[in-house]
Amino acid sequence: MPVERLEGLHTGRGQAGQEDDEDEVRRGILLTTMDKAVRWARKQSMWPVTFGLACCAIEMMAAGAGDYDLSRWGMELFRASPRQADLMIVAGRVSQKMGPVLRTVYDQMPEPKWVISMGVCASAGGMFTNYAVVQGVDTIVPVDIYVPGCPPKPEMLMYGILRLHEKVRTEGHFK
Ligand code: SF4
Repeated sequence: MPVERLEGLHTGRGQAGQEDDEDEVRRGILLTTMDKAVRWARKQSMWPVTFGLACCAIEMMAAGAGDYDLSRWGMELFRASPRQADLMIVAGRVSQKMGPVLRTVYDQMPEPKWVISMGVCASAGGMFTNYAVVQGVDTIVPVDIYVPGCPPKPEMLMYGILRLHEKVRTEGHFK
């Protein structure tokens, strides 16, 4: 299924609701709440921190390139500084040695911030059932979305991103 259609399926309001909004904008009318406006702005301008750990990072980089084009969601800017990022994509296995570094980068990101665990290694250690690899990055940082696979294709990462957008748009209160 084209990625463009996935967002409509998981907004909870569906394609019809989005079309209603677009009709209102065309008529020059837009009524909303500050809460909804802020949530919309947050989901439409997430900036991931540059953070690749292993083979999964190649697929993450592919998702940002021209064929897949994360910029359609305002996400093409992978930030070199965690202070300018609000999304951490943990792409690949996390070694025990890298764990504290990962946590430091996470702590340096401003609130609100979110984490996607990309691939089975980041989520549960994957094939590396040994003492050198962290058996789940959620033991180090809170994870919002888990993307399965080895490696997950760019489409799978983008699906995870869209689910995270939906979470940001609908869940909780201002952080
Ligand atoms: S899930 Fe697969 S592709 Fe990703 S880091 Fe592990 S071994 Fe590499």
